[in-house]
Amino acid sequence: MPYLIALDEGTTSARTVLYNERGERLAMESRPIDSVYPHPGWVEQDPMQIWSAQMESARAVLDRTGIPASAAAGIGITNQRETTIVWDRATGKPVSPAIVWQCRRTAETCAKLAASHGAMITAKTGLVVDAYFSGSKIHWILENIPSARERARNGDLLFGNVDTWLIWKLTNGAVHVTDPSNASRTMLFNIETGGWDDDLLSLLDVPRSMLPRVVSSSSFIAHAASEHLGADVPVTGIAGDQQAALFGQACFRPGLSKNTYGTGCFCLLHTGATRPVSRNRMLATRAAQVDGPQFAMEGAVFIAGAAVQWLRDKMGLIAQASESEAIASSVSGNAGVYLVPAFVGLGAPHWDPAARGTITGITAGATSAHIVRATLESIAYQTREILEAMESDSGERLAELRVDGGATANNFLMQFQADILGARIVRPADVETTALGAAYLAGLAAGVWKSTAELESFWRSQRVFEPAMSEQERDRLWEGWNTAVRKCRA
Ligand code: ADP
Repeated sequence: MPYLIALDEGTTSARTVLYNERGERLAMESRPIDSVYPHPGWVEQDPMQIWSAQMESARAVLDRTGIPASAAAGIGITNQRETTIVWDRATGKPVSPAIVWQCRRTAETCAKLAASHGAMITAKTGLVVDAYFSGSKIHWILENIPSARERARNGDLLFGNVDTWLIWKLTNGAVHVTDPSNASRTMLFNIETGGWDDDLLSLLDVPRSMLPRVVSSSSFIAHAASEHLGADVPVTGIAGDQQAALFGQACFRPGLSKNTYGTGCFCLLHTGATRPVSRNRMLATRAAQVDGPQFAMEGAVFIAGAAVQWLRDKMGLIAQASESEAIASSVSGNAGVYLVPAFVGLGAPHWDPAARGTITGITAGATSAHIVRATLESIAYQTREILEAMESDSGERLAELRVDGGATANNFLMQFQADILGARIVRPADVETTALGAAYLAGLAAGVWKSTAELESFWRSQRVFEPAMSEQERDRLWEGWNTAVRKCRA
């Protein structure tokens, strides 16, 4: 019986998940990844730990299940996006720690770049100029690591996001590739032509020789050398984590969208073969590519589940995240209390880095339960802001939102989300959609599945949340939220 191996390398852990030919999860193992914060706003990881943790999780899940790697039809890789690794082509040694997507060290460079070339960069890449993306991180390494610039010019250094690094290691340095979903997060890739862009490369002074070849997200890519997993399994799928989740949610067609509720929220709307254009500063990105180029619009909420962590770790209002559901449900309404978790400023559609967290509407009747409730509600309000921006950009009205991520376990949050959107929320049976998407991409190219139509039949909803709130009440609450946001910005 063919099965698939998904390598899911995330920000906090590396996981390996096995799936059968019906797309059902057989087993999973994970290993933690450490982040280092050498200066305020800087975030680094060790590329060698990323590799070893990924291999340990893979070997552990194979050992535990007793399934031989030789029975695997393919490997799918999905990864934390934008995280930047530069290494020596000959020795395989990274020249610096990996610069993690969250790292703000290049914020100043990016602010200057935005002022001088913002419009050109957005037109080519679909991105808003930001330290988040890989381009300025590569530039930083070449400028700041002794002799890196010269070695790069001589063609001795390679760049990769985590997908590229893992494949290069799996093939013992033989294959240096990425896919369009990852390439489109580098700020060096022209999302329309589908190639590295000379203007962007010269702007950031990145030699083309460092960059991986861009291959389809679902295709035969390489054989993993047999010493790593015990057999030379073909790597046949790659996608960045959010695009993999979109694929794992079976959002294969224009108009379908998913929202992931984790530390932050990541909302992606599939727009098919057409590049989306946003008037609301949503990002345009490449979706995972099976046949031809596919696009998505992307919006992010910076602080979502992180606000629940704050309730637990900093406010001491809850002992664990799951408790927030019962506490929020113990009061009949918000009592006029709104919490705007602008801990790191506000993202789309406000883009106000100076805004800070605010609680409004407190009266003598307000209790800690109202604060907990307002925190959960803020996740749903922020999601509505993103979806409204996407609706206004795409001209399409959202009927249904597929959800995944840790905080979707919260039934209060999911019902409130349906209520405040006035749209159906669908929680799938398998919420590990990132790994599942990687397995789908790998399985399609390995011939386990013939088409995405076949995969659509695997997708099962676990629970549907129908909107139950009156329109009047929805409008009243929404107005209250918008007033709180105005106060938080002032
Ligand atoms: P990430 O992949 O970003 O680490 P996860 O998808 O694992 O995130 O989700 C973890 C986040 O979800 C945490 O920020 C946590 O506070 C939040 N969370 C987990 N369970 C719940 C819950 N039952 N209710 C509300 N928030 C939750």
